[in-house]
Amino acid sequence: MIRENIEKIMKEVPPDVVVIAATKTRSVEEIKQAIECGITHIGENYIQEAEKKFNEIGKIVTWHLIGHLQKNKVKKALQIFDIIETVDSFELAREISKHAKNMFSVLIEVNSAKEPQKSGVYPEQVEDLIKKISTLPNISVAGLMTMGPFVENPENIRPYFRLTKNLFDNLKNLSLPNVEMKILSMGMSDSWRIAIEEGATCIRIGTAIFGPRK
Ligand SMILES: *Cc1c(COP(=O)(O)O)cnc(C)c1O
Repeated sequence: MIRENIEKIMKEVPPDVVVIAATKTRSVEEIKQAIECGITHIGENYIQEAEKKFNEIGKIVTWHLIGHLQKNKVKKALQIFDIIETVDSFELAREISKHAKNMFSVLIEVNSAKEPQKSGVYPEQVEDLIKKISTLPNISVAGLMTMGPFVENPENIRPYFRLTKNLFDNLKNLSLPNVEMKILSMGMSDSWRIAIEEGATCIRIGTAIFGPRK
């Protein structure tokens, strides 16, 4: 089933869009199967869970942290992940800057629907945050990530993707040091087609590859 699902998705996704397999709760066996079918990017949400899998799978894929990161887990996260998609405070960025050995790429997580219970930065605060981060050593901002709100009809998420893409374009035009707006990570199993229409360069797919989570 994993093979059929991946083949179907890959056939539809434009070649310049990166498919991240969102693998929380999935076994190492399932992930290895996805890799055999051509998946080269893995997204994990939790450090402990990712560490176990990373130890078995290793650096043969690009590891994205797509879940919220606590400051006290930054050192461990830097050992596992190639990119952290969920930076949402200067304090977290400073901690990454402090522990990174070389230039390390991050995305800023945008709380595009301004939901108080969700992590991420409100859209109007992203520019100030990025300007502050651009002064730090060993950290570069490679783009933006957003989840968007939970909606019954995926079409209703489109305005939040569009807003995030506008922000992305405006930030790109500022040409800030250590800021290169090239990755726009948005869209999940039910919304990735809409996300691509709205300019996503990177989609994060769990259920549509592996089936429902138990
Ligand atoms: C789980 C998860 C996904 C994938 O969700 P599906 O609906 O299973 O495709 C994408 N992004 C993040 C941040 C996630 O936690």
